[in-house]
Amino acid sequence: MATARLSDYVRIVGEEPIEELRRLAAPLQGMRIQHINSTRVGGGVAEILDRLVPLSRELGLDAVWDVIEGDQRFFQVTKAFHNALQGKAADLVPEDFEAYLATNRRNAERVALDGDMVFVHDPQPAALVTYARRPRPGARLVWRCHIDISRPQERVWRFLERFVSRFHAAILSAPQFGRPLGIPQYLVPPSIDPLADKNRELSPEEVMAVLDRFGIDRRRPIVTQISRFDRFKDPVGVIRAFRMVRRRVNCQLVLAGGGATDDPEGAEVLAEVQEAAGSHPDVRILALETRSDVEVNALQRASQVVVQNSTKEGFGLTVSEALWKERPVVAGATGGIPLQVIDGFDGYLIHSPEGAAHAIRYLLQNPAEAERMGHNGRSHVQRNFLLTRQLRNELLVIHSMLAPDQPEVVLEAALEGGAHVDA
Ligand code: UDP
Repeated sequence: MATARLSDYVRIVGEEPIEELRRLAAPLQGMRIQHINSTRVGGGVAEILDRLVPLSRELGLDAVWDVIEGDQRFFQVTKAFHNALQGKAADLVPEDFEAYLATNRRNAERVALDGDMVFVHDPQPAALVTYARRPRPGARLVWRCHIDISRPQERVWRFLERFVSRFHAAILSAPQFGRPLGIPQYLVPPSIDPLADKNRELSPEEVMAVLDRFGIDRRRPIVTQISRFDRFKDPVGVIRAFRMVRRRVNCQLVLAGGGATDDPEGAEVLAEVQEAAGSHPDVRILALETRSDVEVNALQRASQVVVQNSTKEGFGLTVSEALWKERPVVAGATGGIPLQVIDGFDGYLIHSPEGAAHAIRYLLQNPAEAERMGHNGRSHVQRNFLLTRQLRNELLVIHSMLAPDQPEVVLEAALEGGAHVDA
């Protein structure tokens, strides 16, 4: 499908929100907005930037998206950071911290911070704030955090905090992620693009074609979780829940996921999932290619219940994606998920595989309830989690940060060379 333009969103959200975006962008014409993250494909951040950047350009902003480069070691370290920041014990040695710093230092040579507004996404490129050569005069630097940093492992957090506190501001996805950072913190939940291939309407034939291609039985109810194979998304727990459900209801489970180039743990977790599934005839594990957007869309639409069994989750785009398709969602009561799933309204918030099993079974056995919740979910996402709302929030953040009383960030290379490594 051709990439959607701003005017295409009018039929989804109405005239006024689009006009408002144009009004908010008018004073910012030509401003260079730079986004920096660590992968072009896979995971929620890439998913969002893929659409936010072109729409910002259409609004007259000079938006660009740069990606840092790292070797396998770097991504192993940043995945361990990611795990530790979300509370899991990490076994890190001083050389790991050194590898992180060295990669950021190298990237500072490649990727100049040359935006008037620079959004640095997540921990991977955060140390660029220290190593960057001379940013534009008056540039504003924002750390855009997409993960749950509410209860981090102290050692990794203390290491990262010294970079985070050098930004002008941070943006978080859920209110409970706020921390005493000494810089302003904005709350901007992520969003989905209703017109992207991942979320646009599909004909029944398109949905059926995908089911047939994957050899999924069309006649029996489908329960699905679509996620990177990541332990925080607890796919093994989904299999446990499904086994409990399957004793009472004739249904099938689809666990689908692909990799992200900045997540080296996927293969290991996939192997654990395959082992947990054993030879169960009703469990399908699909390793999706990158950019399988229509496939993800069709699998979500074909499902009676969508599961997101996360134990930690910054936001969980997959939840809004399923709700938008009027599917009730059974999801972990964690991070940004309770913004999207309101227990008993558009799905159920769960705390264990047993809880998940109970909720899934209830929804499979009460299709009218499932349908009611699906409708509720769609209108909840319509009001709160579409891309146009996020774009509006980001424009408001820019306006707020350009206000004259904002403090300057000192970007002298105070940590250069001697960036103290926490051993
Ligand atoms: N996704 C995908 N293919 C996959 C697995 C996930 O396209 O095999 C997409 C999913 O539909 C969602 C994004 O990747 O748009 C994942 O974002 P989310 O916030 O749910 O989790 P993250 O991976 O960022 O932790």
